[in-house]
Amino acid sequence: MRKIVILLAFAFCQTTQAQQCAFEKSNGLESATYFEAIDWYKNLDRKYTEVFVQEMGMTDAGYPLHLVLISADGKFDAVQWHKQNKVVILINNGIHPGEPDGIDASMLLARDIATKKISLPKNVALAFIPVYNIGGCLNRGRTSRANQNGPLEYGFRGNAQNLDLNRDFTKCDSKDAKAFAQLFHLLDPDILIDNHVSDGADYQHTMTLLTTQYDKLGSKLGQFLKENFEPQLYAGMVEKKWDMIPYVNFETASPAKGMEMFYDPPRYSSGYAALFQTIGFVPETHMLKAFKDRVLSTFAFMQTVIEKSAIKANELIAAREEEKKMAKNNIRFPLMWTVDTSKNKLITFKGYEQAFKPSDATGLQRMYYDRTKPFTQQVKFLNVFNPSNFIVAPKAYIIPQGWSSVVDLLKLNNVAMQQFNADTTIEVEGYKIEDYKSYPRPYEKHHKNTSVKTYSSTQKIKFLKGDYIIYLNQRANRYLLEMLEPTGDDSFFCLEFF
Ligand SMILES: [Zn+2]
Repeated sequence: MRKIVILLAFAFCQTTQAQQCAFEKSNGLESATYFEAIDWYKNLDRKYTEVFVQEMGMTDAGYPLHLVLISADGKFDAVQWHKQNKVVILINNGIHPGEPDGIDASMLLARDIATKKISLPKNVALAFIPVYNIGGCLNRGRTSRANQNGPLEYGFRGNAQNLDLNRDFTKCDSKDAKAFAQLFHLLDPDILIDNHVSDGADYQHTMTLLTTQYDKLGSKLGQFLKENFEPQLYAGMVEKKWDMIPYVNFETASPAKGMEMFYDPPRYSSGYAALFQTIGFVPETHMLKAFKDRVLSTFAFMQTVIEKSAIKANELIAAREEEKKMAKNNIRFPLMWTVDTSKNKLITFKGYEQAFKPSDATGLQRMYYDRTKPFTQQVKFLNVFNPSNFIVAPKAYIIPQGWSSVVDLLKLNNVAMQQFNADTTIEVEGYKIEDYKSYPRPYEKHHKNTSVKTYSSTQKIKFLKGDYIIYLNQRANRYLLEMLEPTGDDSFFCLEFF
């Protein structure tokens, strides 16, 4: 009898004492290692019915990818989540492990939800990838991001193959990206958050936000994001005292000229998500801000997305459903967008004045940002894009089975395909590549092709039994066009799969 009393007391102690992570123990100086992060979630899984941890495929590092599911009702079937009209939010961390803010912020958020310090609305379900780039996270050091203001140690950008995983979402050279595609389609998230840290110009803001280029989502969902949902996130961050601005992109301009919205082709997380009517957000904290503040602002951003998703759930789900239907029936898609320099909106940019001083290394004058001279300025934000390279979707694409590398990628992305039952001769429109240029140096394992020019002709071609025919009447239509049309930014031709 006495034994039972002791055991109960121990259990009580375990559930009331919240876990503390490296970030908290070091007062914001340290980031969790890969093993600490996985143990953290497994502990939450053991203690709380709202948390479930599972393995989802293998990575190049020889470790499985983990997925953490959190739902207020303790049920973890994504198909059911959608049927119950929950907004499903997938949060990806550590794709660039030198930018670990999301790893620690997600651990804190998951813990605070599990312990009910923060309530998770009933109409929102969460999925976390604790660490995506495991190989990079294990390759820990102190110098690969020398100017970054903490943590003391962090992982490396490249994965176990030294690939940049945020360029690998469609070409899938890594096992990591293949595992991601599987879990992405399993969850079919309404929103993807991919946590990063930025560098470049210094300014007062800790948090900047890169949002999916609206048009890529289609007219309904894109408009909902631009006019309705995204403004709510900016307002929510102001309430939490983390004044946020769009991802600062002055590379071709200056505050006086304005900044362009980032254009995200499918190789990036947000560009990939948009192909499947998923809203992508890439929060980019600034590396010159203290790690503690960066983690707290990343936490605040994720919390804001959850809160606003709960409020806007019905509109978001309806817009997305409509967009999915439209994607199936659309017959004309643009494959290229360029910024319209004649259109902009004004945003409030809080910067630091530029100044010059001699470099300690060379003695030559070098530019720096003078933090004693902050300024607030209205800046033009160029967030309207003009479409071009319109493609009229064919009735179907035919892919000879010999191109198995392409077929495998399409299968991975839930593309519906049929195979010919017998050798079949069909009159088809076929492309010939008239001209193209290739990068002289490899880019992420490929000598990428650009400036592709094609001409098409009608011809009779004999296809073999087992070759694939892919009808353009599916949700993946945009994905199919972006990948199979040779002039697509990240098409399989541009990446030399054909
Ligand atoms: Zn990054």
